[in-house]
Amino acid sequence: MLRFTPILLAIAYAIVMYRISVWRTHRELDAKSTELADPALKRMTDRLAAALEIDRVPVYIYEIDPVNGLAAADGRIFITRGFYRKFLNGEVSAEEMASVIAHELGHVALGHARRRMIDFSGQNALRAALMMLLNRFIPFIGAWIANMLTHLLASRLSRGDEYEADEYAAALLTKAGIGIGPQKSLFHKLENLTQQRAGVVPAWLMSHPKTDERIAALEALEQRWGTDG
Ligand SMILES: [Zn+2]
Repeated sequence: MLRFTPILLAIAYAIVMYRISVWRTHRELDAKSTELADPALKRMTDRLAAALEIDRVPVYIYEIDPVNGLAAADGRIFITRGFYRKFLNGEVSAEEMASVIAHELGHVALGHARRRMIDFSGQNALRAALMMLLNRFIPFIGAWIANMLTHLLASRLSRGDEYEADEYAAALLTKAGIGIGPQKSLFHKLENLTQQRAGVVPAWLMSHPKTDERIAALEALEQRWGTDG
């Protein structure tokens, strides 16, 4: 039994850190968000809701500046204040905002939201636990391996999720009569829009694959579905 104690400790530590991190993120979202009340965007989300055969899509404004969208495991969709401002000043269209909301709905529907809670502190917890373990068996390079494994796991998880959420959004936007066009045009704008986020946003908000690869994936879908927009 004594032999396994360090392993059990490491696992317990990781679970506790993860729980605290999820709780913190939810508390932060509750404290810093209000329900979106924008007639033009409401018309868009109503079209998405109709296509999904649900009453409404719960969209909230999250009061931070970096441009981003995110989904909570309970189904709430958050658009950052910075992103909404881009819509208000005409840099992003209502249809493009709808494509972000559809993408986040994809994360909820496909069950990604909970996994995405493995945010920066969640990753740190995992890294610390792995280090505790690996250092016992392989001193010195244990820490390095723990770092690499954590990074690999986190980016693997998020990359696959992004493509799946994009595909879900493409199908939903097509069904809602909005089309894939706004999704692609937003990706073209995304690079400029997100420049200011470096260093301010938790890591789990920034885990997006390369824009051109996401556009290529969408174009492959269009070919497969035989649609043009
Ligand atoms: Zn995403």
